This record gives sequence, C-alpha cells and structure tokens, in this order.
Amino acid sequence: MQSSFNRLLFGTAGVPNSTPKRNNPIEGVRQIAKLGLDCMQLEFAHGVRMKEEVSSALRKVSYELQIPLTSHGPYYINLNAREQDKIDSSVERIIQTAKISDMCGAESMTFHAAFYMKDSPYDVFDLVEKSLNVIEERLNRLDIEIELRPELTGKTSQFGSLEELISLAKSVNSCLPCLDFSHLYARTNCYNSYDDFCNVLGQIKGELGKNVLENMHIHISGISSNSKGDLKHLNLNDSDFNWRDLLRALKDWNCKGYVICNSPNLEVDAKMLKDYYESLN
Ligand SMILES: [Zn+2]
Repeated sequence: MQSSFNRLLFGTAGVPNSTPKRNNPIEGVRQIAKLGLDCMQLEFAHGVRMKEEVSSALRKVSYELQIPLTSHGPYYINLNAREQDKIDSSVERIIQTAKISDMCGAESMTFHAAFYMKDSPYDVFDLVEKSLNVIEERLNRLDIEIELRPELTGKTSQFGSLEELISLAKSVNSCLPCLDFSHLYARTNCYNSYDDFCNVLGQIKGELGKNVLENMHIHISGISSNSKGDLKHLNLNDSDFNWRDLLRALKDWNCKGYVICNSPNLEVDAKMLKDYYESLN
C-alpha cells in the first residue's frame, strides 16, 4: 500500500530481551538500533493500551533512528465467536490496535483473525471478510491508513491458511497476508524446502502481484508441532525449520519488507537471520 522498501528489514517481535528496561518499547527501539537490527514489532498480545506520550515518543525515536515499527494485535480476537458481543469486541480490539499503531507510526499490523469453532471454513471466511470490510470502512473514516494483515496461523483450528489469506487480500482493499512461514510449516507439516518456499512466493506473486513481494510482513521462528499444528515457538537452532532455505528463496525472489523474528531468544535469531541473509549473493 504505502510502504516502499529497498530490502528486507530484520527485527524482533517485541522489545529485545537484552534491553535494559524490557517494559519500555522506546528503549526497545534504541536497543534494536544498537544491535544492528532494522525494525521492531509492537506486541499488544495481552491488550492494546499505550499512553499517548509513549506512542508519540515511539513515533519520534523510530523516525530518528530509522527503525520502522509493525504491530501485533491481542490474542483474544475471534471474528467467528459464538456471541455477537465477542465479535463486536474483537472488531473494537482490531480498530484499537490500528489506532495506536498509527499513532506510533506503524504501517502494518497483524492479528489472528478467528477460530473455526468447528464451522465450515467457507462460512468463517465470509464472516471474517465482512468484519474486515467494516473495520476498513471505520478506519477510512478515522483517516487511518494501515495494512491489515491477518496472520498465517499455526493451528488447524485457527482461520488463516495460505489460501484463505490470499482470498481475503483479493477481496478487502487494505488487507494483505502476514506470512508466518514457521506457522505454515507447523500447520501443514510441509513447506519446509527451498522449492516449497518458492512455491508460496510464486503463488503470492501470481495471485496478488509482484508488488506484494516487495512489501512483505513475515514472521520466522523455530517451532514444534503435532498433527493439530504448532505447539511452541523455539529458537531456530533447536528446531528443524529450514530458515536458511527460506532466506535463500526470499533473496532469489527479490522480496522486500519486514522479517519479524519471534523465537524466544528474539534478537539472537533475528541477528542470525539477518547475518545469513546478508551473506547470500
Ligand atoms: Zn501471531
């Protein structure tokens, strides 16, 4: 939509572990710069609250240090909840995340859209699509321009397969996928080779256009899974997720945008990803 990148940017999901004041996202951005990383994701996993002076200071420090921000909405969002009031509050949480993200200067936000609750995936799709259209309209009225990126989710009980996200991106203007390749692997138990990764990127390019590859929001971590999908995020070296070939594929397809690492060791793996990526030619 609005972002223009000339490369892949590597950063952490939340404030780096090594930040002296770990509960301070402003310090987090400074730490990202010190570590030689490029971006940071604001994690609103347990609620979207931020004082206005914090968001404006974040916007400022992110601009000054040239560390762009992304964001992740709360976990308790379910646009397919049984009760209408829970759907309504999920919509409000997404809008609240967008408002605060916008105040911080973030241009891309991700969230887990819904659970299937044993419903037909087609019905869930319709419901999610409807809510996202409502959200988009309300954000337009508030004059907030932000990419809504439902995340490729790790569990088979969660809405958010690759195909669903591609369809949503086609039907909702401000919607693009947040490609969590570790989740894709956990969810499907395939997509872990160079060719698989190229396949995904080819699908994105074919269905959504080349410019989407130049404006990516990606998550990478180590991961463990069972037949129902992801169990736990791991550090990359403790997992068999084939991150090296993923980075090779991203390079070969000339992808640009955000790569957010959500391994438990955050910046250690983010740095490892960045260093490996830069060693490729
Ligand atoms: Zn997530």
